[in-house]
Amino acid sequence: MAKKATCARCSAAARPRYLPMESWRIPGPLCGKCYSHLIDEHYDGEHVRV
Ligand SMILES: [Zn+2]
Repeated sequence: MAKKATCARCSAAARPRYLPMESWRIPGPLCGKCYSHLIDEHYDGEHVRV
């Protein structure tokens, strides 16, 4: 695997790196932006606010 962590979704630098849920079927780490986007998509109205 590449040493440089790039987002599997938008190819931006994934820093910090977020690991996708297995059920999302995404083969690599995500940037914070895509991660929260996907959280939103998969847990519509149900995600816990931090
Ligand atoms: Zn991204």
